[in-house]
Amino acid sequence: MTKKQEETYSQTIRQQIASLLVEKTRTAREISQATGIRQKEVYDHLSHIARSAIAQGKKLRVLPFRCLSCGFVFEERKRFTPASRCPRCKKTHLEFPTYHLS
Ligand SMILES: [Zn+2]
Repeated sequence: MTKKQEETYSQTIRQQIASLLVEKTRTAREISQATGIRQKEVYDHLSHIARSAIAQGKKLRVLPFRCLSCGFVFEERKRFTPASRCPRCKKTHLEFPTYHLS
């Protein structure tokens, strides 16, 4: 693919992800399965979508998710990548964040 084709392709993927997230909240894994791109790439696209959402008066939100070991709630997380461990109990058994665009 040429640079230009890659850009167009990325835009198409982002539009696809954006409409998935308007429809309902989803995890990166669900987005990955629905679009056929890797989860790692989903996070990159999410940051782009978040930026263009602002221009459209929308907001891409990371919904609160919990630590499955102690129940600590990650609220209003700014980053789209999952947390690696719990700040309270230091364990890594965490719920996956879900995203929503509105
Ligand atoms: Zn915890």
